[in-house]
Amino acid sequence: MQVGNRVTAPSNPEGASGKAPQYGDLVESCPDALLVLAEDGTIRMVNAAAERMFGYSRGELAGLDHRMLLAEGFRNGFQRMFFTLRREADSTAAADAETAVASAAAHVPMEVYGLRRDGTEFQAEVACSLVVTDAAAYPGAAGGTDADADARTAGMIVAIRDTSHRAETDDGLREAMSLLSATLESTADGILVVSNEGEIAGVNNRFLTMWGIPRDLLASRDDEAVMGFVLDQLQDPAQFAEKVVALYADPLAESHDVLEFRDGRTFERYSRPQKVADHVVGRVWSFRDVTAAKVAQDRIARAMADLAEQSAQLKALAFRDGLTGLSNRQQFNDSLGSALAGPCGTAVDVLLLDLDDFKEVNDILGHHAGDQMLIEVGRRLRTCVRPSDVVARLGGDEFVVLLVGSLDPEAVAARIVDSLRVPVWIDGTMLRPSLSLGLASISEDAVDASELLRRADVAMYAAKAAGKNRYMRFRPEMMKALVDRNDLEAGLRLAVDNGQIAVHYQPIVSADRGTVVKVEALARWVRDGALVSPKDFIPAAERSGLIVEIGTEVLLRGCTELKPWLDEDASRSLAVNVSGVQLQHGDFAELVLAVAESCGVDARQLVVEVTESVFFDDDCHVIRQLMNLRTAGVRVALDDFGTGFSSLGRLQGLPVDTLKIDQSFVSMIRTGAEQLPILNAMIGMAHGLGLTVTAEGVETSAQAEYLMKLRCDSLQGFLFSGPQPESGLQQGLEQAARAIAALRGDRVPGHR
Ligand code: C2E
Ligand code: MG
Ligand code: MG
Repeated sequence: MQVGNRVTAPSNPEGASGKAPQYGDLVESCPDALLVLAEDGTIRMVNAAAERMFGYSRGELAGLDHRMLLAEGFRNGFQRMFFTLRREADSTAAADAETAVASAAAHVPMEVYGLRRDGTEFQAEVACSLVVTDAAAYPGAAGGTDADADARTAGMIVAIRDTSHRAETDDGLREAMSLLSATLESTADGILVVSNEGEIAGVNNRFLTMWGIPRDLLASRDDEAVMGFVLDQLQDPAQFAEKVVALYADPLAESHDVLEFRDGRTFERYSRPQKVADHVVGRVWSFRDVTAAKVAQDRIARAMADLAEQSAQLKALAFRDGLTGLSNRQQFNDSLGSALAGPCGTAVDVLLLDLDDFKEVNDILGHHAGDQMLIEVGRRLRTCVRPSDVVARLGGDEFVVLLVGSLDPEAVAARIVDSLRVPVWIDGTMLRPSLSLGLASISEDAVDASELLRRADVAMYAAKAAGKNRYMRFRPEMMKALVDRNDLEAGLRLAVDNGQIAVHYQPIVSADRGTVVKVEALARWVRDGALVSPKDFIPAAERSGLIVEIGTEVLLRGCTELKPWLDEDASRSLAVNVSGVQLQHGDFAELVLAVAESCGVDARQLVVEVTESVFFDDDCHVIRQLMNLRTAGVRVALDDFGTGFSSLGRLQGLPVDTLKIDQSFVSMIRTGAEQLPILNAMIGMAHGLGLTVTAEGVETSAQAEYLMKLRCDSLQGFLFSGPQPESGLQQGLEQAARAIAALRGDRVPGHR
């Protein structure tokens, strides 16, 4: 008999004679416990292994219910098994009639717990076969009952194997499984395992919550419905479905991507094959919710973009001129540096320009008008060049244009000068700006930025010196002018330090009184035996600040040298020219009064001559200085009136006593027969404001007569006397007195 298969049992269990093991020996020596049970479950026979396993002798077991050998909970298994096998055997027996003993085997062993005599339980594996045989044929049958007489009866042969030794292995497996499942459940990833056939083999809870898949949907095993549920949530379901198909077509492939959900969530997806040994049995999908990280990342990206924008704006600001929107010095320097570092042979031209007399626009019309003018100039400059050319404002009224690869920079320079000829209307006032432009180009001996700029500056200075409102290209001889300018300033400093600034005096006659009533002190500098014109050295003195010392020196000398003449007649006065630079000094008024006092000259015999531009400084402090001086008795004359941007209307309210009409107006009188309403208006208006009027630069009798007819109060000019050194002053005064007397038709020429 063979357990588990259809066999024919020998009628003699002693087996055939010979050396081969006998049937009974085999049963007895079988390591598994063998029991033969009757249909009702009583034990018919056991082998030695069964005795050892359960701790009973075969005599004790015979005829007893087999269930005594099974632990609670496992006692009905055999009965069920028996009926199953019986049914199976009946159907088989019909097909195999000649089989004397048929058995049906339970192919799958059963796990049970056995019960030993001492009450201990043990794990065992049981396999059963149905057996129909002659019970008496079993010599080892436990005991002998009446039932034994029932020659061919149905029963079951049961093989029991103690599997306690497996418990340890199973525990390890269980632990590993529990570890795996705990790991799977505690991971933040949602995990899905799908078999090669496309069936869901497993998921963790996280997967279900992440995708919101209802448990009953999963339990329905309707994989298509589950897939539909998944796809519905995605922004691009088609793309995901495509990927799934592609992955199943390539079982070994691993892939990773990002899934965007309709509700704004973002999952990272990984997919890799599931292998058992080397066989791919399915695919593991894992999903990680990276929404928070994505949101943070987006925020960071946005912040970075904002930052980049801000830094671009800041950078733009750092390289822009705030007023005109043109490039600034920094940007110009960078561009010039790049241009000079560019390909050899590329033309690089620098056009440096400066508005002519811009200070007056600012001073007279105010800073707002000045700003408007600069903006307009910037706009016009841009229209004169190509979009790629750099136009920068270097500061104040200084602009620069950089041309790279220009074929005709002079044409551009001419265009720029012309562009400003069109008048500008600012706050209802029409202005005609003009500029002086210096052009310098890269050449063999001028290859660096500073040299180019220096040359453009020299050329611009030459353009100004040549009469402004023009452009000039740099020529090496222009350097001489620059050298001369520096030399002039250096020489002037030496002259001031060495007390070489002299003073000449020019008489001013009163038309009414016919006498010299005033003398204007004018600074003189004799350098290397030649007289340097104040028109040259006064601007240099103002630039260098030396004018403060020169002004004080002129005042001191004038007071000292003129004191005797002033003392003779209290109505006589000494006029000194005062530059705006001097008035910037807070103690100017005190200084003047102190000098006068130190020389013993009455402040009422002093006149300070200022030009109109000093009144248009924002700072009222200049006006305060002049008011303080007037309070002390010093009078204020407005010199060179009519030049610049001033107008009669602005005179009102200024701390001024006398208006000095500029010689350019006087020179308009040629024959004395012309109609010059402007002179008439000036004198009339000044008188109307309570000012006295002095005409400058009177050279001819016609001019003097014309002005006297207009009731001009005083006259000054070569007709009477040029400026004289102190030594020649007496002569000058006499000459002036004679001249005025002649004009008035007086018999006796005026005296000192
Ligand atoms: P200003 O104050 O208007 O002085 C009058 C200028 O006209 C003087 O020139 C004088 O020599 C010149 N002048 C006088 N009569 C005639 C004439 O009939 N025809 C012509 N063509 N010119 C005449 P100067 O001495 O060359 O002075 C030029 C300017 O330099 C002065 O103009 C004044 O603005 C400035 N200046 C001279 N000395 C001083 C000074 O000590 N301090 C300051 N701040 N400026 C001074
Ligand atoms: Mg003057
Ligand atoms: Mg003058």
